[in-house]
Amino acid sequence: MKLYNLKNQKEIVNFSEAVQLGLGTNQGLFFPVNLPIIKKKLLTEMLEMDFITRSSKILNMFIENEIESETLYNSVKTAFSFTGPIIKQVEENISCLEIFHGPTLAFKDFGARFMAQILSFLNKKEKKTITILTATSGDTGAAVAHAFYKMKNIRVVILYPKGKISQYQEKLFCTLGHNITTIAIDGSFDDCQTLVKQSFQDIEIRESTCLNSANSINISRLLAQICYYFEAFSITPIKKREKLIISVPCGNFGNLTAGLLAKSLGLPVKSFIAATNSNDTVPRFLENKIWDPKKTISTISNAMDISQPNNWPRVEQLFKRKKWDLKTLGYGSVSDKITKKTLQELYELNYISEPHAAVAYRLLKNQIKKNEYGLFLGTAHPSKFKNTIEKILNIKIPLPSKIQNRINLPSLSYHMDPNFLKLRNFLLKK
Ligand SMILES: *Cc1c(COP(=O)(O)O)cnc(C)c1O
Repeated sequence: MKLYNLKNQKEIVNFSEAVQLGLGTNQGLFFPVNLPIIKKKLLTEMLEMDFITRSSKILNMFIENEIESETLYNSVKTAFSFTGPIIKQVEENISCLEIFHGPTLAFKDFGARFMAQILSFLNKKEKKTITILTATSGDTGAAVAHAFYKMKNIRVVILYPKGKISQYQEKLFCTLGHNITTIAIDGSFDDCQTLVKQSFQDIEIRESTCLNSANSINISRLLAQICYYFEAFSITPIKKREKLIISVPCGNFGNLTAGLLAKSLGLPVKSFIAATNSNDTVPRFLENKIWDPKKTISTISNAMDISQPNNWPRVEQLFKRKKWDLKTLGYGSVSDKITKKTLQELYELNYISEPHAAVAYRLLKNQIKKNEYGLFLGTAHPSKFKNTIEKILNIKIPLPSKIQNRINLPSLSYHMDPNFLKLRNFLLKK
C-alpha cells in the first residue's frame, strides 16, 4: 500500500512506514494513493460474509501484499475479538448503531486494537522495544492501554490531565500496570498534548525509545474503522438499505473519514451527516466556506471538544479525489441545552443514550426525509457518562462489569508537573 503526505505529495511511504511514522513531514497526514473499488457482485458476496472475514478482506484491499492475508486475518480476528456493532431500533425509521461494546466501552477499541496488532507484527521483525506515548482526555487512553496491555517489547506511557477525566475513565486504564504507565499531569489536556509534541521533537528520546504516538490520525486506526460501516449495512434489513443516512458524532473526524472511505469503496450509503457540538468549525465552514476555528469550549460531549479537527484535510481530499460535491455532506451543531433535551426525548422513546450519540441523533432526526432510513452512531457506552446522564434523566444506571471490576483497584498513576525535563528524564530512564 502506498500513501502520500497531504502536505508534500512527493513524500510517498508504504503502509508499515505510515503506521510507524504516524505523520509525515510538516505534520502532514498520509492518504492512500489508490482508492480501491468493490464491484457490485463482490459487494453482494462480501455482505454475506461474517464480520472478521469481510473486515480482513476490506483491509487487504488497501494494505495489499504488504501483510500476508492469513496474518492479516489473524490480526483482525484478535483485534475484533469482542461484541461487534449492534443495531438498536429507536423509532420506525431511525436506529442507533452501537459500536461501544468493546473492552473500554467506546468505538476507539476497533482502531486501537487493530493498530496494536499491526505494530506488534511489524515489531516482530525488528525486535526493538517501542514506546507509545499518548495524551488523552479520556477514551483514547483507555483504548490504547487495553489494546497494548502485556504486549511484548511495547511500553505504553499515557498522560492525562489530573482531575479532569471521570473517575470511571481513570480506573479503566490507570489500574493495569505491567507495560502500561500512566501519568497524571497537573495541568490541562493541552499541556499533556504539548508534552507529547515536545517529546517527538527531541531526537534523543525519539531514537532511544523508538517513539510512536498511536493517536487517531494513524492510518491503521482509520482503516480498521471502515469495517464496521460494512457490518452496519449488512445487518440492516435489505428494504431499509436503499436510502440509508448515517449521522456521525464528530471530534477529530476520524470516524466520519472512515465512513466516507467505506462509501468510496462502493458501500451504497446515500449520505452522511457530520454532527458536532458547539465546537462547530466544520459546520460553519460548510455553511460559509470560511475556516475559522474558535477557542475550544467544554461541553457534555467532551470527546468532541475539538475546534481544529485533525482529520478534516482527509475528508476534503477524499471528496476531491472522488469528485464528490461537499454540498452533499450533511452537517450541523448541537448545543448542550439541546443535547440534554434530546437525551430526555430518547429516554421517552425507551432508549438510554449518552451526549455524543444524542448530538448525532438530533441532527439526523431534524434532517431525515420521508422514505429514508437513518442510523446514528453510538460511540460510547452510556455508563461512561453515568453521573451526567443520571442527573439529566433523573434515573440510576448500573455500572457494567468492565468498569465495576476495576473500580476498587488502586490507581497506579505517577504524578508530574507539566514540565518537559521531568518527562524527558522519565522516558530516558531504563
Ligand atoms: C473520540 C470520540 C468521538 C469523536 O470521534 P472522531 O473520530 O474523533 O471524530 C465521538 N464520540 C466519542 C464517545 C469518542 O470517544
